[in-house]
Amino acid sequence: MSAANVVKEARAAGIQLGVDDNDLVLEAPVPPAAAVLDALSRYKAEIVTLLRHGPDGWSAEDWQVLFDERAGIVEFDGGQSRPQADVQAFACCIVDWLNRNPERSPAGRCLACGDREHAHNPLLPYGAEPSGHAWLHSRCWSAWYEARQAKAVSALKAMGISVPVVRRIKREEQFKHLPSDATRETRTSKNQFASQRQINGG
Ligand SMILES: [Zn+2]
Repeated sequence: MSAANVVKEARAAGIQLGVDDNDLVLEAPVPPAAAVLDALSRYKAEIVTLLRHGPDGWSAEDWQVLFDERAGIVEFDGGQSRPQADVQAFACCIVDWLNRNPERSPAGRCLACGDREHAHNPLLPYGAEPSGHAWLHSRCWSAWYEARQAKAVSALKAMGISVPVVRRIKREEQFKHLPSDATRETRTSKNQFASQRQINGG
Protein backbone atom coordinates (compact mmCIF):
# COMPACT_ATOMS: atom_id res chain seq x y z
CA MET A 1 0.00 0.00 0.00
CA SER A 2 1.21 3.50 -0.80
CA ALA A 3 -0.12 6.97 -0.05
CA ALA A 4 -1.21 7.25 -3.70
CA ASN A 5 -3.18 3.99 -3.42
CA VAL A 6 -4.86 5.11 -0.20
CA VAL A 7 -5.89 8.36 -1.92
CA LYS A 8 -7.25 6.39 -4.86
CA GLU A 9 -9.31 4.12 -2.60
CA ALA A 10 -10.63 7.01 -0.53
CA ARG A 11 -11.74 8.84 -3.69
CA ALA A 12 -13.35 5.68 -5.03
CA ALA A 13 -15.31 5.60 -1.76
CA GLY A 14 -16.63 9.11 -2.49
CA ILE A 15 -14.33 10.99 -0.13
CA GLN A 16 -12.97 14.36 -1.24
CA LEU A 17 -9.51 15.05 0.11
CA GLY A 18 -7.96 18.42 0.75
CA VAL A 19 -4.99 19.83 2.62
CA ASP A 20 -5.18 22.65 5.14
CA ASP A 21 -1.73 23.52 6.48
CA ASN A 22 -0.51 20.17 7.82
CA ASP A 23 -3.97 18.68 8.13
CA LEU A 24 -5.79 16.36 5.83
CA VAL A 25 -9.36 17.53 5.30
CA LEU A 26 -12.04 15.00 4.37
CA GLU A 27 -15.43 15.65 2.89
CA ALA A 28 -17.80 12.78 2.35
CA PRO A 29 -21.55 12.47 1.77
CA VAL A 30 -21.73 9.51 4.16
CA PRO A 31 -19.49 8.52 7.06
CA PRO A 32 -16.43 6.70 5.55
CA ALA A 33 -15.72 3.07 6.41
CA ALA A 34 -13.40 2.51 9.36
CA ALA A 35 -10.78 0.73 7.21
CA VAL A 36 -10.54 3.71 4.83
CA LEU A 37 -10.27 6.17 7.72
CA ASP A 38 -7.62 3.99 9.34
CA ALA A 39 -5.52 3.91 6.16
CA LEU A 40 -5.91 7.68 5.70
CA SER A 41 -4.74 8.30 9.23
CA ARG A 42 -1.77 5.92 8.91
CA TYR A 43 -0.56 7.57 5.67
CA LYS A 44 -1.61 11.08 6.65
CA ALA A 45 1.86 12.71 6.44
CA GLU A 46 2.64 11.18 3.03
CA ILE A 47 -0.81 12.06 1.69
CA VAL A 48 -0.46 15.68 2.84
CA THR A 49 2.91 15.84 1.04
CA LEU A 50 1.38 14.30 -2.07
CA LEU A 51 -1.63 16.62 -2.23
CA ARG A 52 -0.12 19.88 -1.01
CA HIS A 53 0.05 22.49 -3.77
CA GLY A 54 3.45 24.00 -4.47
CA PRO A 55 4.09 27.69 -5.24
CA ASP A 56 3.31 26.97 -8.91
CA GLY A 57 -0.16 25.68 -7.97
CA TRP A 58 0.63 22.05 -8.70
CA SER A 59 0.90 19.19 -6.19
CA ALA A 60 3.22 16.19 -6.35
CA GLU A 61 0.14 14.24 -7.43
CA ASP A 62 -0.44 16.62 -10.37
CA TRP A 63 3.17 16.12 -11.52
CA GLN A 64 2.84 12.36 -11.18
CA VAL A 65 -0.32 12.42 -13.30
CA LEU A 66 1.47 14.48 -15.98
CA PHE A 67 4.48 12.16 -15.90
CA ASP A 68 2.34 9.01 -16.23
CA GLU A 69 0.28 10.56 -19.00
CA ARG A 70 3.32 11.60 -21.06
CA ALA A 71 5.09 8.29 -20.50
CA GLY A 72 1.95 6.46 -21.62
CA ILE A 73 1.72 8.51 -24.81
CA VAL A 74 5.37 7.93 -25.69
CA GLU A 75 5.18 4.22 -24.87
CA PHE A 76 1.88 3.31 -26.52
CA ASP A 77 1.48 5.90 -29.28
CA GLY A 78 5.19 6.38 -29.91
CA GLY A 79 6.06 2.68 -29.66
CA GLN A 80 9.05 3.25 -27.36
CA SER A 81 10.26 1.07 -24.51
CA ARG A 82 9.13 1.98 -21.00
CA PRO A 83 12.59 3.23 -19.87
CA GLN A 84 12.80 5.46 -22.97
CA ALA A 85 9.24 6.66 -22.35
CA ASP A 86 10.13 7.50 -18.73
CA VAL A 87 13.17 9.51 -19.82
CA GLN A 88 11.08 11.52 -22.28
CA ALA A 89 8.23 11.99 -19.82
CA PHE A 90 10.73 13.30 -17.30
CA ALA A 91 12.15 15.72 -19.90
CA CYS A 92 8.58 16.94 -20.54
CA CYS A 93 8.05 17.48 -16.82
CA ILE A 94 11.26 19.55 -16.67
CA VAL A 95 10.03 21.82 -19.47
CA ASP A 96 6.59 22.12 -17.87
CA TRP A 97 8.17 22.89 -14.50
CA LEU A 98 10.27 25.65 -16.11
CA ASN A 99 7.16 27.10 -17.79
CA ARG A 100 5.19 26.97 -14.53
CA ASN A 101 8.04 28.47 -12.51
CA PRO A 102 9.29 31.32 -14.65
CA GLU A 103 11.99 33.68 -13.45
CA ARG A 104 11.67 37.38 -13.96
CA SER A 105 14.12 40.16 -13.38
CA PRO A 106 14.13 43.92 -13.91
CA ALA A 107 15.70 45.21 -17.10
CA GLY A 108 19.11 46.81 -16.82
CA ARG A 109 20.93 44.08 -14.86
CA CYS A 110 21.92 40.55 -15.80
CA LEU A 111 20.06 38.07 -13.60
CA ALA A 112 23.03 35.68 -13.73
CA CYS A 113 26.11 37.85 -13.19
CA GLY A 114 24.50 41.05 -11.86
CA ASP A 115 26.41 43.22 -14.32
CA ARG A 116 24.76 45.90 -16.48
CA GLU A 117 24.52 46.15 -20.24
CA HIS A 118 27.62 46.84 -22.28
CA ALA A 119 27.85 47.74 -25.94
CA HIS A 120 29.80 44.55 -26.62
CA ASN A 121 27.59 42.45 -24.32
CA PRO A 122 23.89 43.48 -24.53
CA LEU A 123 21.18 42.33 -22.13
CA LEU A 124 18.44 40.24 -23.71
CA PRO A 125 14.98 39.26 -22.44
CA TYR A 126 14.31 35.53 -22.01
CA GLY A 127 11.07 33.77 -21.19
CA ALA A 128 7.43 33.59 -22.30
CA GLU A 129 5.65 36.91 -22.84
CA PRO A 130 2.71 36.61 -20.35
CA SER A 131 4.95 35.73 -17.41
CA GLY A 132 7.50 38.49 -17.95
CA HIS A 133 11.17 38.17 -18.75
CA ALA A 134 14.49 37.40 -17.20
CA TRP A 135 17.22 39.73 -18.49
CA LEU A 136 20.57 38.16 -19.20
CA HIS A 137 23.69 38.66 -21.22
CA SER A 138 23.55 36.27 -24.15
CA ARG A 139 26.79 34.67 -22.98
CA CYS A 140 25.36 34.18 -19.46
CA TRP A 141 22.22 32.46 -20.71
CA SER A 142 23.37 28.86 -21.16
CA ALA A 143 24.85 28.51 -17.66
CA TRP A 144 21.74 30.15 -16.20
CA TYR A 145 19.46 27.84 -18.17
CA GLU A 146 21.42 24.78 -17.09
CA ALA A 147 21.08 25.84 -13.46
CA ARG A 148 17.33 26.32 -14.01
CA GLN A 149 17.08 22.80 -15.41
CA ALA A 150 18.98 21.42 -12.41
CA LYS A 151 16.52 23.26 -10.15
CA ALA A 152 13.62 21.67 -12.00
CA VAL A 153 15.17 18.21 -11.65
CA SER A 154 15.63 18.59 -7.89
CA ALA A 155 12.14 20.06 -7.42
CA LEU A 156 10.64 17.11 -9.32
CA LYS A 157 12.80 14.63 -7.41
CA ALA A 158 11.64 16.14 -4.13
CA MET A 159 8.10 15.32 -5.26
CA GLY A 160 9.03 11.72 -6.00
CA ILE A 161 9.40 12.09 -9.76
CA SER A 162 12.68 10.92 -11.17
CA VAL A 163 14.02 8.54 -13.75
CA PRO A 164 16.52 5.83 -12.93
CA VAL A 165 19.60 6.49 -15.03
CA VAL A 166 19.74 3.50 -17.34
CA ARG A 167 22.26 5.05 -19.67
CA ARG A 168 23.56 8.49 -20.39
CA ILE A 169 21.30 10.22 -22.84
CA LYS A 170 22.40 13.31 -24.67
CA ARG A 171 20.23 16.33 -24.15
CA GLU A 172 19.39 16.59 -27.86
CA GLU A 173 18.11 13.03 -27.77
CA GLN A 174 15.93 13.76 -24.72
CA PHE A 175 14.24 16.69 -26.40
CA LYS A 176 13.99 15.20 -29.88
CA HIS A 177 10.53 13.69 -29.46
CA LEU A 178 8.91 16.37 -27.33
CA PRO A 179 5.65 17.89 -28.54
CA SER A 180 6.14 21.22 -30.28
CA ASP A 181 4.94 23.34 -27.36
CA ALA A 182 7.37 21.69 -24.97
CA THR A 183 10.42 23.67 -25.95
CA ARG A 184 8.56 26.95 -25.69
CA GLU A 185 10.91 28.58 -23.25
CA THR A 186 13.97 27.82 -25.33
CA ARG A 187 12.34 28.71 -28.60
CA THR A 188 10.80 31.93 -27.33
CA SER A 189 14.17 32.93 -25.99
CA LYS A 190 15.74 32.37 -29.36
CA ASN A 191 12.97 34.31 -31.14
CA GLN A 192 13.34 37.15 -28.72
CA PHE A 193 17.06 37.01 -29.18
CA ALA A 194 16.51 37.35 -32.91
CA SER A 195 14.02 40.21 -32.63
CA GLN A 196 16.18 41.97 -30.07
CA ARG A 197 19.10 41.77 -32.44
CA GLN A 198 16.93 43.27 -35.13
CA ILE A 199 15.94 46.13 -32.86
CA ASN A 200 19.55 46.71 -31.87
CA GLY A 201 20.65 46.40 -35.44
CA GLY A 202 18.03 48.80 -36.85
ZN1 LIG B 1 25.61 38.36 -17.27
